[in-house]
Amino acid sequence: MIGAVAARLRELELRTRPEHPDLTAALARRWAELPAHVKTENQMLGRRTAGCEGTHGVFPRCDLACTPCYHSREANRVRIDGEHTRREVDRQMALLREQRGPGQNAQLIGGEVTLLSPGDHAAALQAMLAHGRKPMSMSHGDFDYAYLKALALDPATGKPRFTHLSFAGHFDSMMFGRRGLRRARHETELNPFRARFCAMFARLEREHGISHYLAHNMTVTPRNLDQVAGVVRDCRDMGFRMLSFQPAAHVGNESRWKEDYRAFSTDAVWGEIEAGAGARLHHRALQIGDERCNRTAYGGYAGDRYFPLLDEDDPRDQRFLADFVAACGGMDFAAPKPILAARLARAGVRHPPVLAHAAGWAHRLVGRMGGVRAARRTPPRALTFVMHAFMDARDVRPAWAALERGEVSGDPAIRATQERLQACSYAMAHPDSGELVPACAQHSVLDPLENLRLAAELRR
Ligand code: SF4
Repeated sequence: MIGAVAARLRELELRTRPEHPDLTAALARRWAELPAHVKTENQMLGRRTAGCEGTHGVFPRCDLACTPCYHSREANRVRIDGEHTRREVDRQMALLREQRGPGQNAQLIGGEVTLLSPGDHAAALQAMLAHGRKPMSMSHGDFDYAYLKALALDPATGKPRFTHLSFAGHFDSMMFGRRGLRRARHETELNPFRARFCAMFARLEREHGISHYLAHNMTVTPRNLDQVAGVVRDCRDMGFRMLSFQPAAHVGNESRWKEDYRAFSTDAVWGEIEAGAGARLHHRALQIGDERCNRTAYGGYAGDRYFPLLDEDDPRDQRFLADFVAACGGMDFAAPKPILAARLARAGVRHPPVLAHAAGWAHRLVGRMGGVRAARRTPPRALTFVMHAFMDARDVRPAWAALERGEVSGDPAIRATQERLQACSYAMAHPDSGELVPACAQHSVLDPLENLRLAAELRR
């Protein structure tokens, strides 16, 4: 009896810590590994997060055709096999839990996730949750409410098997084969499909109480660059919580490369995103990994007015961020209210200056929303803007090979690629070798052989 009470108290003590000790250790390791150029005041990798994660080789097939497509041409030779998916997701997540600690965002990604049966898809998500990941299913969004419902509800009881689902829907005019719109000539033609995607999750929440987080992904090429602002304007009130843009790279299936994807800069893409947002976006308030790979702007809208969560020009916001990280570290805010309250209280005790600076930050934030009255009139809604710029395979291959040999390249372009790989914020796990690999290296170097092996293993 006394032993059971002591164990319960120990568990409670652990759960109410601002940061799980395994995450503390993982963050320290990640920080130590980072190259010097990204160890800046605003760097969140190794302080707040160990990085994003994604699965690979667990369901490589897709039933749409994108130009470009980051998956190797061998991907569609691999049969969808639910047993294989369940087993490999479990193994990859176990390694990520071991090396990256709990509470990290992980994408269930590969080919098209909804080619899995609802039961296999649900089992993969449950395995991710069991290993302390926060899963997000990456889809082209061309599925029906019946599939979503079958995924969300336990077939034996009809009751929800998840309290929350996260999905990213990929919609852009570089995709071919969507039902009802084989080929979009303009991004606006996809708006009914984007709205339908959001409406399915709103319905699921209404009918079954399962909350959701939706991201919108769009590949940007010279052909649709000038439509990015319009997509942002059209989508920002649809129900997405994140609008994420990927400038196209020469990676994956070469037969799907249709243009010179380096004909514009990432600054040009970001300019378009800002034009659509109707405001300057403060992506330098905080950084995740290397700026050449990632830009993230946290904020939202109060009515039509955009507000940044942190003002990158205001030193008081920078100070608050430093205090917040010192107090909370990698704290997981998705916790039951009493647990979260205890974590926050302990964070305040750990670093008391955060309390004074939090009040000032909250005051400034409400000011950016237009004041208390404006915030009351139109309750603010969060919207995160992201740009993730993958690298070209022709650079990644030699850069990764040299890193594997422990060499620093003398070629400036390859050296820059190495720096970005070392600061990578998006890892994929290889349980057999115990290695975590940047997604760029996975797609540029490892995917083709992996898919050939899987095609042989999972014969029809
Ligand atoms: S190295 Fe590649 S996968 Fe990693 S963050 Fe940079 S662009 Fe993304």
